[in-house]
Amino acid sequence: MTLFSSSFRIGVSASRAVWISVACGLVIVLLTAVLEWRGYQDAVATAERDTRNLAAVLDSHTAALAGQADMVIRIVSTVLDGTVPDSNTAQVLRDTVIAQTVLHTGLQDVLVYDARGALVASSYSDARGHGAATGRDFFQHHQRTARDTLHVGHAYRADARSPWVIPLSRRLTGRDGRFAGVVVVPLQVSELVAHFQALDLGLDGVVALNTAEGIMLARHPAVEGAIGMDMSHTPVYAALAARQERGNVSFRSPLDGVERIYSFTRVTGYPFTLIVGVSRQQALAAWRQTAWRDVVVVSALLGALAFAVWRNRCAAARQERDARQLARAHRRLADLEKAINEHAVVAITDVHGTIVHANDHFCALSGYTRDELMGQNHRIVRSDHHDTAFWREMWRTVAQGGIWKGEVLNRAKDGSPYWVQATIVPFLNARGKPDQYIAIRTDITARKQAEERMQQAVAQLDHANRRLSRLAAYDALTGLPNRRQFDEQSAEEFTRARRDSTSLSLMMVDVDHFKAYNDQLGHAFGDDCLRAVAAAVAACQRRPGDLVARWGGEEFAVLLPHTDAAGAACVARRLLERLAELALPHPGSPLGRVSVSIGVHTVRPATGGSFGALLQGADAALYRAKRAGRNRLQAAEED
Ligand code: GH3
Ligand code: MG
Ligand code: MG
Repeated sequence: MTLFSSSFRIGVSASRAVWISVACGLVIVLLTAVLEWRGYQDAVATAERDTRNLAAVLDSHTAALAGQADMVIRIVSTVLDGTVPDSNTAQVLRDTVIAQTVLHTGLQDVLVYDARGALVASSYSDARGHGAATGRDFFQHHQRTARDTLHVGHAYRADARSPWVIPLSRRLTGRDGRFAGVVVVPLQVSELVAHFQALDLGLDGVVALNTAEGIMLARHPAVEGAIGMDMSHTPVYAALAARQERGNVSFRSPLDGVERIYSFTRVTGYPFTLIVGVSRQQALAAWRQTAWRDVVVVSALLGALAFAVWRNRCAAARQERDARQLARAHRRLADLEKAINEHAVVAITDVHGTIVHANDHFCALSGYTRDELMGQNHRIVRSDHHDTAFWREMWRTVAQGGIWKGEVLNRAKDGSPYWVQATIVPFLNARGKPDQYIAIRTDITARKQAEERMQQAVAQLDHANRRLSRLAAYDALTGLPNRRQFDEQSAEEFTRARRDSTSLSLMMVDVDHFKAYNDQLGHAFGDDCLRAVAAAVAACQRRPGDLVARWGGEEFAVLLPHTDAAGAACVARRLLERLAELALPHPGSPLGRVSVSIGVHTVRPATGGSFGALLQGADAALYRAKRAGRNRLQAAEED
């Protein structure tokens, strides 16, 4: 059973959630990319289709125009029928054929040149500038080439003020087969362009009509210097060279630098190339707008996803850190608990003292099983040793949130007492009030018993000491202070008397003929006699300061502070009288009773002398009392 139990489960792996989110993000990015790519392709395809359609329309228009021009040229050729045109034929041509055909076809001009390049007939009323054709490329072409095919020459202007025209021409061949001249229909570039203008190609759209070889004939919108430019290096002509009749290419225009999606086509039956282009920028504008919107939306989505993942990871990291700290704390607690359980008796009670936790030590020491202890009040182990005030003080301390320490005598299940050193600590709730108490106790029974034994031993020792000191200070036979104590106290009295400048008297008392007493009555009676004499001597004591002692053998000493010679003599006489009254029988004494001889000496220590001198004086006086016949008092000689 443990004090602190908990379990830790670190949640679903945060990294798995991250991987899922990353996968989702990638799928979203991939789907968006695919959708946008398809949108892009659609936009390009739409632009290609539109330009293709326009090219097809322009193709038929141009073919029709070229067809009409060719028809006019053929008519003129037929009319001439192999003759070399001269001024007469020219007149006829102008007045009839050319005027009629131009009128019916809607074409404006027909020009006829002779073999020298001179203009011999023209539908122009004023054909200035169209003079000699020798310098024109179409004329030189027909001079060189015997083939009777419609030729498209380079666009030119008759003069600086004249409009641009595209010469469509055929060779005139004489009956002899020699070059006879050229019939030319100059197509007005401005008319073609007017037709191109009707088409809506959006901003930066372009329509161009080139020769089959790539020389620019007409362009809308017009660019200065564009007509006559060689465009054969563009991808259009690379595709045409690869025998592609029509198709789409995309490139940056070398004329204006605009990148376009182009459709090109050979004009059916005629040596023209038609090119229709729309600005790539324009064609993709709508797609680009949608794509941007999608990118913004998807980015926001991915951002939100990344933020959520980041938040989740942070939370998970925090959770893991907390869990690790908690686990560490738990291990520490478990270690502490183990250590405490190894060492001490541990019990936890609620606020009413009901046991909610008991460790093995508690069970072992109290003799109760854990089941017997759990739910019981802690009083179950209480002894009668402590009074109510003791328990009240303990409860008051812990109920106020304090820690109580003390030694408690408890009682085990079998009634045997045991001592514990207890520390009770309250577990405080959030409001700072105790809701449980933990009691940690150590068994101090052995120590207590040792202390008790020690106390008994100390008491015995004290008693013995007292006896010893008594033995050392008192005489065993008479119970009077012995000579040792007498010496100590009399030395003090002597000093005091000197300080106080008072008299000090000493009586030395010796039993007369005591040897004979012993000899005749025996030693035991001698002892009795000594006790009786001692009692008589002690009875002389009048003042608390008087000191009576057994001096040795059958001799007694009486020290009388504050007593002069007369006072001492008075005391001595009283003793003599007392013994006379007692009349203790003494067969060996001439008096027939026990008597004593007394030597008295009185001094004033303040005036000089020593205790030794006092003793000597008293002893000498006693000697003289003996010599004088015994049973008497003798004062020292100088007195
Ligand atoms: P004197 O009158 O001259 O003093 O004669 P005396 O016999 O008393 O002479 P002395 O002082 O020589 O003898 C003392 C005797 O006292 C000797 C000794 O046997 C006896 N005595 C001393 N102490 C004790 C004692 O404690 N008990 C007994 N029974 N006798 C003791
Ligand atoms: Mg003696
Ligand atoms: Mg004697």
